[in-house]
Amino acid sequence: MAQQPKPSTQSPALNRLIDQLSTLPGVGRRSAERIAFHLLKNPQDQTVQLADAIRDFAVNLKICNQCGNATDTDPCPICSDESRDHQTILVVEKPSDIVQLETTGQYTGVYHVLMGRLSPLDGIGPGELNFEGLIQRVKKQKVREVILGMHPTSEGDGTALYLADQLSKQGVHLTRLARGLPVGASLDSVSKAVLGDAVHGRRRID
Ligand SMILES: [Zn+2]
Repeated sequence: MAQQPKPSTQSPALNRLIDQLSTLPGVGRRSAERIAFHLLKNPQDQTVQLADAIRDFAVNLKICNQCGNATDTDPCPICSDESRDHQTILVVEKPSDIVQLETTGQYTGVYHVLMGRLSPLDGIGPGELNFEGLIQRVKKQKVREVILGMHPTSEGDGTALYLADQLSKQGVHLTRLARGLPVGASLDSVSKAVLGDAVHGRRRID
């Protein structure tokens, strides 16, 4: 006679939460259980606030179909701004990079968000990132310059190299953000890569 599965002794609500959490990237069943038990110990209103934030995010946030930025409106306010230079695209890894760059007030072009960077060890290849959208934009929008704004890490460098190779056939001017020296840093406290870039990206002051 076939054995009947044992009825679960856990609450259906807890099981449902664990099932949902374990669908998230990098969260296995055991981590999902740990998070769920942590939430169980949390004050109830904190957990409800978290749930509200996720619901609000799911209902209201969209991805801009032009640049891939997270936005409440599609196209996003930057892509719909006609006073910006739409022939210059700055490629970034994530939406928060745009927020940082916009605070400088120095950039007047538009952006393209990859939603990550190449990371073969984590299974993130070109198919997982918003590369195709960028190539299509470059082809269709008479783009003059693509600025690679990846983070100065080995994965960021790898992503920039890959993109430079893909875009080299498109006849577009390719640049990379200069890393420069952080304000207040002494030359012996910055890495060789930063110092090398600072020399390479030097500019005239006369
Ligand atoms: Zn946009």
